[in-house]
Amino acid sequence: MHTDQLTFTDPVTRFPSVTPPTQHQPEPGLDAELTPRADRGENSYRGTGRLEGRRALITGADSGIGAAVAIAFAREGADVALNYLPAEEEDAQRVRALVEQAGRRAVLLPGDLADAEFCHQVVADAVHGLGGIDALVNNAGKQIAVESLDDLTDEQWQETYDVNVRAIYRVTKAAVPHLEPGSTVVNSTSIQAYQPSAHLIDYASTKAAINNLTKGLGQQLAPRGIRVNAVAPGPVWTPLQVSDGQPKEALPHFGKSTPLGRAGQPTELAPAYVFLTSSESSFVIGETLNVNGGTPSP
Ligand code: NAD
Ligand code: MG
Repeated sequence: MHTDQLTFTDPVTRFPSVTPPTQHQPEPGLDAELTPRADRGENSYRGTGRLEGRRALITGADSGIGAAVAIAFAREGADVALNYLPAEEEDAQRVRALVEQAGRRAVLLPGDLADAEFCHQVVADAVHGLGGIDALVNNAGKQIAVESLDDLTDEQWQETYDVNVRAIYRVTKAAVPHLEPGSTVVNSTSIQAYQPSAHLIDYASTKAAINNLTKGLGQQLAPRGIRVNAVAPGPVWTPLQVSDGQPKEALPHFGKSTPLGRAGQPTELAPAYVFLTSSESSFVIGETLNVNGGTPSP
């Protein structure tokens, strides 16, 4: 039987509990080389017209959660502009093909969000390519595990903050003048915002900052009819984890300590982003929707 995200199912067994072999990819990592492959909803996500005619800029849209969001948005009726790093062209082309198979437009915008100038350019190019934007998904993220403070470099600290926090500020600031009332911003934060791992102090603290930024900016933009919200994933099987996001020896256990007993698949995150972008969430502002397999969160 063909199943989709709306099929009544046991969440424990909806996806297998992955036991990934120890593996390594250079940052940023490719979905195309992930073992086992991640499920971005290619064969399961079914659109129900919830984002008909919308135009979305999605960062980090080539792989993992961002790819699942791009596929879902397209099947829900949105045209999408996909940002990613130039090294991820192969992954981005696959997502582009899936968006086009859904009958929607994909505008590809490779570039580095650590670069202030690019943060402005990517918004201008998305607006130009889509004829405007009314949805922004700030999803790109950098996560490099470092066991000891002694080995954490100023450069890494700076880059993690530039990509995870400063780019959200810059891209959102550039986008807001283009956003009509009804438009939305959704930021990717993390369970790490509340439960920081000892080896992720730079990354985890950016995610706490994103939660706070979401609540502050949400209030500021609400009177203008622009809603800002966030999604906080728990452990989700993506290339982030194998490009030094986790210590190597942790990979086979990845996600097994959640109450569901397994890591999530990227497609399980997509409905949260769809909900927060769709007008059905019109009274939801400054919220962080936790999608983490059951780990208690504030
Ligand atoms: P992913 O590697 O598939 O996606 C991250 C993307 O960030 C990359 O594809 C890349 O395109 C983009 N990126 C990184 N540095 C960039 C830069 N300098 N310029 C432009 N783009 C850049 O991994 P993912 O797990 O899908 O991550 C998506 C988001 O979800 C991230 O913000 C991450 O922190 C968050 N998150 C993931 C998990 C998880 O377990 N996978 C858990 C909590 C939060
Ligand atoms: Mg990627």
